[in-house]
Amino acid sequence: MDNCIFCKIIKGEIPSNKIYEDKDIFSFHDIRPVAPVHFMLIPKLHIASLDNVEKKHQDLLGKIILLAPKLAKEQGCTDGFRTIINTGRVGGQEVYHLHAHIIGGTERLPVMVPNPS
Ligand code: AMP
Ligand code: ZN
Repeated sequence: MDNCIFCKIIKGEIPSNKIYEDKDIFSFHDIRPVAPVHFMLIPKLHIASLDNVEKKHQDLLGKIILLAPKLAKEQGCTDGFRTIINTGRVGGQEVYHLHAHIIGGTERLPVMVPNPS
């Protein structure tokens, strides 16, 4: 996708702090980290969001999930981490190239969605 910031990062047209790359997956640190460890795992294939995945993407999504704990541990998450995929307007998605946030490296992350009551 021509105007996609994450596609540009994958192509090296926009610099990133890369963690990992293989033929299908790219991983890099979030530019605005919310915790000591905060990085992104993305497919090289441009898929806009989790709302747009299809059966043919199953192996790709599986690769991302399998890589998450491996890379998280390498980044220092020795006692757990959080994986977030913001999706669409309600999910607060800002960048429309599917990405999983991996967040951790702290003693304890805050409650993800506060109870409204
Ligand atoms: P989301 O709300 O899940 O779409 O989050 C998009 C994330 O992308 C945010 O956490 C941003 O800080 C991050 N982000 C945006 N531009 C860049 C960039 N050039 N390099 C690294 N992370 C970025
Ligand atoms: Zn893209």
